[in-house]
Amino acid sequence: MRTKILKIDSRKPDKKKIRIAAASIRRGGLVIFPTETVYGIGGDAFNRKAVRSIYRVKGRPSGNPLMVHVSGMEMALGIGAFPKRYLKIIDSLWPGPIAFVVPARRGVPKEVVSGLGTVAIRMPDHKVALELIRESRTPIAAPSANPSKMPSSTKASHATGYFDGKVDVIIDSGSSRKGIESTILDLKTFTVLRPGAFPAEKIAEAFGRKPKITKAARGLATSKVASAPGMRYRHYSPKTPLFLYTGRPSAIRKTVSGMDNYAFIGSRESCRALGRWGVTVLDLGSRKSIEKVASSLFDSLIKVDGFEVDFAIVESFPEGGIGMGIMNRLRKAANHRYFSTRGQLKALISKYAKDD
Ligand code: AMP
Ligand code: MG
Repeated sequence: MRTKILKIDSRKPDKKKIRIAAASIRRGGLVIFPTETVYGIGGDAFNRKAVRSIYRVKGRPSGNPLMVHVSGMEMALGIGAFPKRYLKIIDSLWPGPIAFVVPARRGVPKEVVSGLGTVAIRMPDHKVALELIRESRTPIAAPSANPSKMPSSTKASHATGYFDGKVDVIIDSGSSRKGIESTILDLKTFTVLRPGAFPAEKIAEAFGRKPKITKAARGLATSKVASAPGMRYRHYSPKTPLFLYTGRPSAIRKTVSGMDNYAFIGSRESCRALGRWGVTVLDLGSRKSIEKVASSLFDSLIKVDGFEVDFAIVESFPEGGIGMGIMNRLRKAANHRYFSTRGQLKALISKYAKDD
């Protein structure tokens, strides 16, 4: 398949190009498109064949349902049964980086519905995404544009690297503003199933009610709970073995000094401290601007595989605001391999680092 690359300005989307992409969706094709969180790989949510091809192209386990993207409230109400008492609040939060899990309406294909009969729905805050859905005149099922287990795409070039020749269209609208996926809130249990670009603190503010946040949602444990299908799987991982530093930032240099042939992914402050020692560093931005850290995270997790290193270290960030979403991604990307001391790091290296 020849993949068409369409460059579309995110502030002033070219209607003609949107129409080309929408025609692909209507024909049952796959379109990779930008959102404010990450790039999505989308197909007509009501076309079973299209939806199945998303699973196939991503290599996604069939038990992990897809998120459905809508361009308006009416479209959302057509696929999900939203509790009436929350409608006003949801309307005020959308478009935005928060998805809601609600019972699916009859007629929504089983491929996008979870085993519990629920569907995750979101209205993305991105002109290109909204115009694409509108022009396609159907909700678009779209998980993140990455092969299963790998880091999500926050640039069209990431998506091209993963899926060139495997999808009909890739829309290039530059870098994703937020850089990590949406927050997922189950409205029945009022539980955050996945922390993300919408801060949990803001959910409490908007709903006047604190959501439950499980350890599993924070990426602290592997869950067997069926209501949170995505959490059972390893995720976001580069090919390079990745270890998460959980100690104090100020002690990082002492903890890792003398280690050989690795890359460090972390805050500007830590990168400065280590870069002076000749370590290969990937700078996520200052600790003081956690939003910037989120937006460069996946790009760095993808870039690290371009280095010839035996392993990589990533550091931890505070879990306030978008920080909870960042830490969820990092714990999974590191496959729960944590260290805070030299001894622990050495043990990880001897067990998991590449030895070629
Ligand atoms: P992705 O866009 O690739 O991050 O994938 C969508 C996420 O939404 C995955 O983590 C899914 O497990 C989750 N998801 C989709 N539908 C549901 C649902 N009905 N209930 C719970 N989680 C869902
Ligand atoms: Mg994903």
